[in-house]
Amino acid sequence: MTAPTGTFFPGGAILLALTILGFGAFFWRAWRLYRYMRLGRDEARIDHPWRRLRDELVVYFGQRKLLKRPYYVRGLAHAFIFWGFLVITIGTVDLLFKGIVGFDLPGTGSAVFAWTIDVFALLVLVSIAIAAVRRLFFAPPRMHVALDGYVILGLIAILMITLLVFEGAGLSAGLLKTGYARPPIAGTILASIFESHAPATIFAFAWWTHVVTVLAFAAYLPQSKHLHIVTTLPNVFFRKQTPRGQLSLIEDIEKQETFGAAAIRDFSWKQLLDGYTCTECGRCSDNCPALATGKPLDPQKIVLDIRDQLLRDGPKLLADAKAETTPPAHYVESKPEELWACTTCAACVEACPVTIEHIDKIVDMRRHLTLMEGSAPPEAQRAMTNIERAGNPWGEPRETRGEWASSNDLGVPTFAEKPDAEYLYFVGCAASYDRRNQKVARALVQVLRAAGVSFAILASEETCNGDPARRIGNEYLWQMQAQQNIETFKRYGVRKVIASCPHCFNTIANEYPQLGGNYEVIHALQLVDRLIAEGKLHVGRGIAEAVAYHDPCYLGRHNGIYDQPRSVLDAIPGVQRVEIEPHHRERGFCCGAGGGRMWMEEKVGQRVNHRRIEQLLALNSGATKVASGCPFCLIMLEEGVGAKGVQDVIRPVDVLELVAGRIES
Ligand code: SF4
Ligand code: SF4
Repeated sequence: MTAPTGTFFPGGAILLALTILGFGAFFWRAWRLYRYMRLGRDEARIDHPWRRLRDELVVYFGQRKLLKRPYYVRGLAHAFIFWGFLVITIGTVDLLFKGIVGFDLPGTGSAVFAWTIDVFALLVLVSIAIAAVRRLFFAPPRMHVALDGYVILGLIAILMITLLVFEGAGLSAGLLKTGYARPPIAGTILASIFESHAPATIFAFAWWTHVVTVLAFAAYLPQSKHLHIVTTLPNVFFRKQTPRGQLSLIEDIEKQETFGAAAIRDFSWKQLLDGYTCTECGRCSDNCPALATGKPLDPQKIVLDIRDQLLRDGPKLLADAKAETTPPAHYVESKPEELWACTTCAACVEACPVTIEHIDKIVDMRRHLTLMEGSAPPEAQRAMTNIERAGNPWGEPRETRGEWASSNDLGVPTFAEKPDAEYLYFVGCAASYDRRNQKVARALVQVLRAAGVSFAILASEETCNGDPARRIGNEYLWQMQAQQNIETFKRYGVRKVIASCPHCFNTIANEYPQLGGNYEVIHALQLVDRLIAEGKLHVGRGIAEAVAYHDPCYLGRHNGIYDQPRSVLDAIPGVQRVEIEPHHRERGFCCGAGGGRMWMEEKVGQRVNHRRIEQLLALNSGATKVASGCPFCLIMLEEGVGAKGVQDVIRPVDVLELVAGRIES
C-alpha cells in the first residue's frame, strides 16, 4: 500500500510523532493499570504452560466461549469484529511501518492479504451494524449499555470505512501496487465509484483519517471497558488450570493472621485482572439463579465493583502503601445478603466468555466475613458448629451415622470388618441421616451387590467432608474435617472411593489432594455406567415412563459429568429421557442448595428450587419423574414439588433408585 507521506519530512515525521503520542498514551495508562493490579496479593498461575497455550488458541483466538448457546448470533457478530480487528491490526502495523520508514512488512503485498483485509473489513462492518442494532433495540437485560460501547463501535466502523475508501481510491488513482491480477472486491467497486472524483485526494484524506483513528483508538482503549480486547489475552492464559470445583488452599493456616478478602490488597493480582477484562456483557448475571429469583446478588456487579474500587484505591496506594482503603461497593453496601446468596453453582463462570472466576472472589470475601468478622448468617454458623461437634451439619449424633446400613438387614460391611474391600463407599451426611436419601444409599448398595463390587463403609468413623464449611468461608473447619477423613482413609489403606453425593465427590477428588489425600474417586453414576457397559449390571424393563434429568451443579458444571448419568438413564428399558430445555447440561439451573445455602434461610425473592420446579412444569413433556444424582438436589426438588402441590404430577428420584428398581439377577 503506497503511503501518502512522501519522503520522511514532513509526512513520515508527523506520522511518527502521532504514533509515539497514540501508543505512548496507551502504554502510559497500561503501565499504571499494571501497577494497580500488582497491588494484589501474589498467586502462582504458570502451571500447565501447554494447556495455557492451547486455551489461548481455543478461547482467545478461536472465541470458543463466546460462541456458546444461546449466544450464537451475537457471539458470532462479536467474534467477527474480534477476528477482523486482529487482521486489520496487521494491516495497520504495515501502514504505519510503510508510512514512517517507507517499506512494506513482508507478506503484506500478496493478493491473499489484500483479499483477507477487504473481506474482513466488510464482515466487521456488518457485525458492527448487528451489534449497534442489538444494543439500541434488543440489549439483554443485564448488559451495560453505555456511551463507551458506541464510541468504540463508531471508532471501529470509521477504521473499516476509511480502509475500504483509501483502498478503492488508491486503486483508482494507481497508487496501490497490486502485483496480482484480481484486486479485492470492495476495493474494485469503490475504485470505479471514485474514478472521476479526484481519487488521489480521497486516498490521502481517507488514509490519514484511518491512521489518526487508529492512534486515537490506541490512546482511548485503556481508558475504556474495551481494554478487554487486550487483557483477555493474559486473562485466558492465566485462567485457573486446577479443577473448577477446587477452592484455593490457605496454607499454614495456623500461622495466618488475616483471612479472605475485603480490601483491594486482599484480592490476588489475577482477581484484579479479571476486573479489567470484564466486557460488561452480563452473561454471568443472565445465568445466575440467585439474581433470577430476586436476590441482591449480581455476579457482574461483583467483578465491576472490585475493578472500580481498584481504580479508586490504586492511585492512593501507589502514593502511600498505608493509605486508608475501603472494600468494594457490594461488600460495603449489601453484605451479607449479596455474598451469602451465592450457591457456587458456577453458572456465571461457565457463561463468562473471558474466563472470569467469580466463585473464588465470593468465597474469599465469605472467608473474611466468617473468619475475620464472625458475621456468617446464624443458620450457617449453626451448621458449622454442628459439623465441628457432631461431624454433620444437622447435628445428628455421630455414632448413628451408620445406622441406615444396619437396618433392613442390608448388612453393609464397615472397613473395620472388611479391610480388603476394593472401594470405600463414602456415604456423606445427607445419605447417612436424611431419611429420603437413605433410600438412595440403600439403592446404591443393591446395585453394587448385584454387580459384585467389593466395598465397605466407614459408618461412624466417617465425618462430613467439609464442603459446606469451606464454601461458607470456614477454611479452618474444612481443613480439620478433611484431615480427619484423610487420617481415617490412611488407617484403612483406602485407595478407591465411591461417592453418591457430587459434593463429597468434588471435595474428595479435587480438594483432598491439596492436603495430601490422593484417591481414585468415582461418582456412583459414573461407576454404574461403567458396570452396565462392562455387562456386570443388567437392568430390566419396568413401567414405561418419561424421566427428566436435572444436572447437579457439582457433577455437571464443576466436574463435566454430563453424559454418564444420561447414559445410565438411556440404558434403562422403558425410560424415555427428557431434557429440561433450555436449562440443562452446561446451562442447568441450580437447585439452590450449594455453597452452604442448604443450611441458610432463603427469605428474599422466590426460592431457587421453586423456580426449578416451575421450569420443569413449563416443559409439558409428560415426564412423571425428575431424576438427579445429588442428595441436596433431591431434598430441594422434594421440597419444591411439595410447596407447589404437584407431588402427583412429577416425583423427584435419584437415578440410582431407578436402576435399583429394575436390577435383573
Ligand atoms: S456461582 Fe451461581 S449463584 Fe453464585 S454468582 Fe455465580 S451464578 Fe450466581
Ligand atoms: S464477568 Fe464475564 S460474563 Fe460477566 S459481564 Fe463480565 S465478561 Fe460478561
